Amino acid sequence: RARKRFGQNFLHDAGIIHRILRSIHARPGERLLEIGPGQGALTEGLLASGAQLDVVELDLDLIPILKHKFGLLPNFRLNQGDALKFDFRQLDAEPHSLRVVGNLPYNISTPLIFHLLSHADLIRDMHFMLQKEVVERLAAEPGGGDWGRLSIMVQYHCRVEHLFNVGPGAFNPPPKVDSAIVRLVPHEVLPHPAKDPALLERVVREAFNQRRKTLRNTLKGLLDASAIEAAGVDGGLRPEQLDLASFVRLADQLAASSATP
Ligand code: SAM
Repeated sequence: RARKRFGQNFLHDAGIIHRILRSIHARPGERLLEIGPGQGALTEGLLASGAQLDVVELDLDLIPILKHKFGLLPNFRLNQGDALKFDFRQLDAEPHSLRVVGNLPYNISTPLIFHLLSHADLIRDMHFMLQKEVVERLAAEPGGGDWGRLSIMVQYHCRVEHLFNVGPGAFNPPPKVDSAIVRLVPHEVLPHPAKDPALLERVVREAFNQRRKTLRNTLKGLLDASAIEAAGVDGGLRPEQLDLASFVRLADQLAASSATP
C-alpha cells in the first residue's frame, strides 16, 4: 500500500516507464543513482541496461521488496536512508560521471534538487519526474510569472530541458497534479560564475520576496541605487524581468561592496 507521508505514487504505465528509460538511455558501466526506487518500476529497466546502480530508499517496508527483486544482481546496490541527508561523495564517482534518476516524492523535490546541486561537480545529468508546475518553473525564461528563485538557482548550475508531460493516470495512486519529466545537465564550466554564489542566493531571495516591487525597493537593504546602476541594472525593473547574468552582476556588486572596509 502506498504511503502518503513518503510521497508514494508508483508508476504503472509501461509506455511511460519505457519512454523515461529511453530518455535516460543508460549504458553498460555507467554510474547511476536512483532516488526513491519504490517497488522498482524504473529500477528494473535501469539495471537491465548494464549500468552500475545505487538506489536510496527511505521506506523500510520497501527494502525487503527491493532486495527480493534485485538483491542478487551484481550491478545493484541498495542504500536505505533519507536522500536529503545522503552523502553522494561516498559513492566514489568520478567527476561529472554520476547520472541521477528519480520519480521524486513531490514534497521534497525542491530541497532535494538543491542538495544535489551542492554536488553538481559529481553529476553528469539528472532525470526527474516532478510536478509539471515545478518543471515549468525550472525551465522558465525571464519575463514571466514562472521565472523565480528556483529557475535562477538551478539554471546557474544546469541546462534544463522539459522533456514531456505525464498525466495522473500513469501512477498508482494517481496524484492530484500533472507531472513532467525534466532533464538537468550541470554545466562543466559555469556560463555566469558569481564571485560568491551565496551572495547570488541572497540577492535572488531578497528580490523575489516581493516580486511585484521594483528592484530598487526590494534590494534596498543590500544594494543602494548607485550600486544597482553600477551593476548595469535598471532599478526600476521588477525581479521577474531580470536575467541570470544580471542577477550575477548584482551579486558581484554586493561582493565588491561588502569587501570594502
Ligand atoms: N520510483 C518509484 C516509481 O516510479 O514507482 C517510486 C516513486 S514514489 C513517487 C517516491 C519514492 O521515494 C517512494 O518509494 C518513497 O518511499 C521514496 N522516498 C520518499 N522520501 C524519500 C527520501 N527522503 N529519501 C529517499 N526516498 C524517499
